[in-house]
Amino acid sequence: HTAARDLTSTLIGDRAGGWDLAGELPVAVLRELGRRGALCAQVPVEFGGLGLSSADNGELTAHTGGLCSSVRSVQTSQGMAAWSISRFGDPEQRRRYLPRLTGGRLAAVAFSEVDAGSDLSAMTTRIEVAGDEAVVTGEKVWTTAAGYADLILVVGRSGSGAAVAVVPRDSPGVRLTRVPHPSGCRAAGHADVRLDAVRLPVSAILGGGGHDLSMLVTAMLLYGRMSVAWGCVGILRECLRVSATHVRSRSQFGTELARHQLVSRHLAELLVAEQVATRACEHASRCWDAGEPGLVAAVVLAKQVSSQNAARGAATAVQLLASRAAHDGSPVARAYRDAKLMEIIEGTTEICQLVLADHVLATAG
Ligand code: FAD
Repeated sequence: HTAARDLTSTLIGDRAGGWDLAGELPVAVLRELGRRGALCAQVPVEFGGLGLSSADNGELTAHTGGLCSSVRSVQTSQGMAAWSISRFGDPEQRRRYLPRLTGGRLAAVAFSEVDAGSDLSAMTTRIEVAGDEAVVTGEKVWTTAAGYADLILVVGRSGSGAAVAVVPRDSPGVRLTRVPHPSGCRAAGHADVRLDAVRLPVSAILGGGGHDLSMLVTAMLLYGRMSVAWGCVGILRECLRVSATHVRSRSQFGTELARHQLVSRHLAELLVAEQVATRACEHASRCWDAGEPGLVAAVVLAKQVSSQNAARGAATAVQLLASRAAHDGSPVARAYRDAKLMEIIEGTTEICQLVLADHVLATAG
């Protein structure tokens, strides 16, 4: 993953703060990252991907997350789309769509609706299949990367089950409205997506549909949760780096900030937060790469620990930089806003806790 890491460093550089303020990423940067396979790096080489393990893709995702959580959000969406196509698409769909995603086309994944947030069983979007045609009707909200996407994977009810439709952004009946002024990951292209009787060939329905909604959503979110968890590790590493530099470079009361014991405690807590999150992610990625049965719980645990640690860790970094982090251009101020949203997406902290509690009950005694 070294080449993809270097490419990410070069293309993002020190521009994330400006993109955050503008609320927009340069599409050329996203397309270049996509074309070089860095946005969905686990896609096998035969489909034009880098064929990375979950562990190596995780480190790449952490690297991106440390530089720019908005780009990392796009990376999470693209990776989740590719994973969903690999998991639920038939061989022909994999051959059709995956090379597009490793060739510079961008994708988003739409589950949430106004009245179906944590409770996705309340979704009302319909994917009706009749003969060789499918019709998609519904309204999705907060779709990350939709503002840049060429393809939107839309999850909806279909017959008595559920399906995923791969909807080209320029299909008649698709209308996007950008989410105005998000509080974090401001440049990630979040949009509400309205689908007015969007007509597609039935070959755009992954695997032909007929899935159980809960199983479908859990399987698709597996990648998103893993990716967000690693992205949070990147946020923690960046907060540690910036904090350590700052407390060595500034003095108060005649001594370096780093020499005040209450300041050192903050650094120690940040290190613990980063290391614990890293270990949880490494464990989940090991389960992923080995195909272990405890994978779902390990990924939810990693997402839960990493997002909570990142939200707390970024708050600690703001405390350490004090007035230097009290403005929008500061990287830790950005980390603070971005990290808080990581406790909300891909299953809120509370939903992750419910999943983990169910896991305890299912495996105890
Ligand atoms: P609600 O479900 O209304 O929850 C409100 C509060 O109640 C939360 O604290 C929640 O934990 C708690 N709560 C709800 N039910 C329970 C319960 N049973 N027990 C305990 N507590 C509970 N969606 C997509 O489909 N695709 C995307 O790409 C995407 N990207 C996003 C990016 C960002 C930055 C954000 C903010 C959201 C994104 N979303 C996306 C939507 C996201 O998945 C939802 O916001 C999330 O699932 C929570 O839903 P909600 O906001 O409606 O909150």
